[in-house]
Amino acid sequence: MITTRGYAAMEASAALKTYSFERRDPKDCDVVVDIQFCGVCHSDIHQVRNEWGGAVFPMVPGHEIVGIVSRIGSRVTRYKVGDRVGVGCFVDSCRQCECCRKGYEQFCDKGMVQTYNSQYYDGERTMGGYSKVIVVDENYVLRIPDALPMNASAPLLCAGITLYSPLKHWQAGPGKRVGIIGLGGLGHVGVKIGHAMGAEVTVLSQTLKKQSDGKRLGADHFLATSDPNTFKSRKNYFDLMINTVAANIDINSYLDLLRMDGTLVLVGVPPAPMTVGTFPLIFGRHRLAGSGIGGMAETQEMLDFCGKHGITSDIELIKIQQINEAYERVVKSDVRYRFVIDMASL
Ligand code: NAP
Ligand code: ZN
Ligand code: ZN
Repeated sequence: MITTRGYAAMEASAALKTYSFERRDPKDCDVVVDIQFCGVCHSDIHQVRNEWGGAVFPMVPGHEIVGIVSRIGSRVTRYKVGDRVGVGCFVDSCRQCECCRKGYEQFCDKGMVQTYNSQYYDGERTMGGYSKVIVVDENYVLRIPDALPMNASAPLLCAGITLYSPLKHWQAGPGKRVGIIGLGGLGHVGVKIGHAMGAEVTVLSQTLKKQSDGKRLGADHFLATSDPNTFKSRKNYFDLMINTVAANIDINSYLDLLRMDGTLVLVGVPPAPMTVGTFPLIFGRHRLAGSGIGGMAETQEMLDFCGKHGITSDIELIKIQQINEAYERVVKSDVRYRFVIDMASL
C-alpha cells in the first residue's frame, strides 16, 4: 500500500482537515500520479454537505486533478514517468456496456466509479484529489497539452468537459446563439469554449457585477437575470442555453428565451427538484435536456481543443489550509472563477 495524506471531511458538513490514508499499490495497468493541483468544484461542496444524499465519510473530495506520473505498472503503454497528466470525475467503468463501448463511460450501465465518494467494483473505496498521490488505471488518465500551464488546466477536467460536451453535441458554432446561465466555474469556461467554437455567446448572470469579466472571457452579450427586461428582450432568441446554476431557478422563464427547436441543457445539480411547465416546452417545440461531464475520448479531445485555442480556467490559487473558507466563498458566488489548490501546501 502507498500511504498518503489529504484533506477529508469526517462527517457531513464538517470542516475538512488533514487525513492520512492508503492507496493501492499500482497494478499492471495503473499509473501513480503525484498530484500538483486540484480544482474546487461546486460538486465537492454538494457532496461534502451530503446535499445529494448517499455520501460516505471520511471523504477526500477533488476531481479536477493534475500532476506528474511518478511510477507505472508493468503493462502501462500510454504514459511514462514524468508525463503531465490529469484525472477527472471517474476512475473506472465496466468497459463492456453500450455506453462504455461508444465512449460515454460517464453513463456506464453498471455505474462509473467516481473519483471520490464511490467504490470500485471490488469494493475499494475511492478518495479524490485533495491529496498528494492517486493511483489510476491508465485508461482513465488524460494527457495535459504541453501548451497549457498545469494549475489553470486542472478545472478543465470537470468544468471544461461539462461545458464542452453539450456545446459540441448541440453544435455550438458560427451562426448559433448560445446562452450560459451562471458565470461561475463551469460557466466561465463555457464562455471561453463557446466563443472559440465560433458561437455568439450571451452570459445570463444574476447581476451586472461580472460584466467586464464576461466580455473579457469572450461573451458577446451580458445580461442580468434580476432585470425583468432581460426576459422581454431575449424572447425566442437562443438556439442553445446551458444552465450551470447550483440552486433552483425558474426554468420556465428561461425556456421562453429559446427559439423554435431550441434546447435548454441542465448541467447544474441543485439538491431539490424543479417545476417545469408544459406550455414553455410546447410553444416553439422547445427541448429540455441534461448533460453529464464527458467520456474519456471526448475529454482528451476537449483538452486538445483547449491546448490549440490557449483556453484554461481563470483561477485563484489557494493553499489547502484555505479550503473551508474557499467553500464559503464559492457558495456566495465570490470566486473569480475557480479555486485551485496548490498541493505543495499539503
Ligand atoms: P459555481 O462556481 O458556484 O457557479 C455557479 C454560478 O451560478 C454562480 O457563479 C452564480 O453565477 C450562479 N448562481 C449561484 N447561485 C445562484 C442563484 N441562487 N440564482 C441564480 N444563479 C446563481 O459552481 P460550479 O462549480 O460552476 O458548478 C455549478 C453546478 O454544476 C453545481 O451544481 C455542480 O454540482 C454542477 N456540476 C454538474 C456537472 C455535470 O456533469 N452535469 C459537472 C460539474 C458540476 P452568477 O453570479 O453569474 O449569477
Ligand atoms: Zn465537478
Ligand atoms: Zn459500462
